[in-house]
Amino acid sequence: MSINELFDLSGRVALVTGGNGGLGLAMALGLARAGANIAIAARNTNKTKSALSEIRAEGVKAEGIQVDVTQESEIEQMVTQTVNALGRVDILINNAGITMRKEPQDLSADEWDQVLDVNLRAAFLASRAVYSHMKSQGGGKIISIGSMYSIFGGGGSGAPYSSSKGGVVQLSKSLAVAWAKDNIQCNAILPGWFMTDLTAAVPANQPDRYDLICRRIPTGRWGEPEELQGTTVFLSSRASDYVTGAVITVDGGYSVM
Ligand code: NDP
Repeated sequence: MSINELFDLSGRVALVTGGNGGLGLAMALGLARAGANIAIAARNTNKTKSALSEIRAEGVKAEGIQVDVTQESEIEQMVTQTVNALGRVDILINNAGITMRKEPQDLSADEWDQVLDVNLRAAFLASRAVYSHMKSQGGGKIISIGSMYSIFGGGGSGAPYSSSKGGVVQLSKSLAVAWAKDNIQCNAILPGWFMTDLTAAVPANQPDRYDLICRRIPTGRWGEPEELQGTTVFLSSRASDYVTGAVITVDGGYSVM
C-alpha cells in the first residue's frame, strides 16, 4: 500500500460532534480533504448550514444533524441519521465541548452537571451508539478531544472542565482496551491553545492571562485550528491501525514546559 493510500479516507464516513465551528469544523474539513464524507452534529442550525457549504466545497457529501448532546435519545438518533444519510459510520470525533469559568466554591451542582454532560457523558453515549455499526463493519476509529486541562488543574477557570477532560482521556483508554478485539481504535487528542468561540474571552477579558499563556508556549504562539488536521487524519486512517489508547498533544510544546 502506498503512503497516500495509507492516509486516504475516500468512501469513509466521519461523524463530528460540534463540527459546525471552531476546532470541530477544522477537523471536519481536514477529513473531507482526505476524502471522507462528513456528518456534523450540533445545535445551531445557521452555523451548521454555513459549515456544510464549506465542507461540500471540498467535493464530498456532507450532512448536518441538529442535536443536543446532553440528550441520550438525540445522540442515538444522530448516529441513525448519519448511517441513513451516508450509509455507514467509520470515524467518530467526540469534540462538542463547553466550559464554565467560575471558582469551584461558587459552582452549583447543575452547572457541574452541564459541563460534565456535554464534555464527558456525551462522548461515552456517542461512542456507545456507534459501536455496533463499527463492529459490524469490521472496525472503526474514535477520537475524543481532551485539553491541556486533561493534564493540568483548571483552578478558577474550570474545575468541571478539567475534571471532564481528565475523564475523556480515561474514557478513551478504557474504550481502546474494551474494543481492540473489534478493530476499533480509540485515541485522544489534547489541543493546546487555539483561538475559537470557546477561548475568545481570554484575550478579550483576561489580557494578563493571555500574555502569560503566550509566554508559556515554547512555540511562542497559539495554534491555528487547521494545525489539528494532520493528527486527526492520521488517527482516522489505516496509518494508525496499530495505535490505540494513545493520547497525543497538539500544543506547540505547552505541556512539556
Ligand atoms: P467552540 O465553542 O467553537 O465549539 C464548540 C462546539 O460544540 C460547537 O460546535 C457547539 O455547537 C458544540 N456544542 C456545544 N454544546 C453542545 C450541545 N449541548 N450539543 C451539541 N453540540 C454542542 O469551541 P472549540 O472549537 O474551541 O472546542 C471544540 C473542542 O475542543 C471542545 O471539546 C473543547 O473543550 C476542545 N478544546 C478547545 C481548545 C481551544 O483552545 N479552543 C483547547 C483544548 C480543547 P452549537 O453551539 O451549535 O451546539
